[in-house]
Amino acid sequence: MRLILLGPPGAGKGTQAKLLVERLQIPQISTGDMLRAAVKDGTPLGREAKQYMDRGSLVPDEIIIGLVRERLQRADCTRGYILDGFPRTVTQAEALGKTLEALHASLDHVVSLEVPTEDLVLRIAGRRTCRNCGDMYHVRFSPSKTDGRCDACGGPTYQRDDDREETVRRRLAVYADQTAPLISFYEARGLVRRVPGTGEIPEIFRRITAALGT
Ligand code: AMP
Repeated sequence: MRLILLGPPGAGKGTQAKLLVERLQIPQISTGDMLRAAVKDGTPLGREAKQYMDRGSLVPDEIIIGLVRERLQRADCTRGYILDGFPRTVTQAEALGKTLEALHASLDHVVSLEVPTEDLVLRIAGRRTCRNCGDMYHVRFSPSKTDGRCDACGGPTYQRDDDREETVRRRLAVYADQTAPLISFYEARGLVRRVPGTGEIPEIFRRITAALGT
C-alpha cells in the first residue's frame, strides 16, 4: 500500500505513521526525519536545509524531490510506504506523480488528518522527541515516565528547534499557504480520506485503519 499522511504540523502524522508501520509492515518515509538526520550528520545537504528549517520555511522543492526519488527506489519500498511530510507543495506532488509513473506504481490513499488550528500550537509546544530512537512524547498529553528520558531506550528527549512558538506559527502559515492546496489536488483524483485527528492516539489510529480498510 502506498499512502500519504497529510496534515498540518502537530496533527500527529509522525505518531500515526509509526503505528501504521507496525500494522502494515511498510516503511515510514519522513522527509523531516531525513533532513534532521542530515543536519545532525553535518552533510552539505543538512547545512543547506538547516537555514530553511530554522526559519520554519520549506526546503526548496528540487532538494526534497531528489531525496525522495532516490528513497522510493530502495528495496524496502517494493511493498509500499507511508509518506509523512511529503509532498508539501503542488510541485512536489506533481514530481511524485511522475516518479510513480516511471516506476509503474500509483498511490492508494491520501489520509488528511484534521485538527483545529488552536490545538496545534499547544500540541507542538509540548512535543519532545528522543534524540536516540526518535520516540515521541508530550509533556502534558503523553509524558515519558522519567522527565527528559525516553521510555523505550533511556535516551535524552529534547524539543526540536523549530517547535518553538514563533517558528510554529510560521510553519502553520506555510502549511495553509503551500500544503493545504494538496487536499483539493488529491481530492480531484479521488484519493482523500478525511480523518478527525483529535482525541486519543489509539482512537485516531482506528479511524485511519477503518478509512484504509485494513
Ligand atoms: P516536519 O518534521 O515534517 O515537520 O519537517 C520539519 C521541517 O523540515 C519543515 O518545517 C521544513 O523546513 C522541512 N521539510 C520537511 N519535509 C519537507 C518537504 N517535503 N518540503 C520542504 N521542506 C520540508
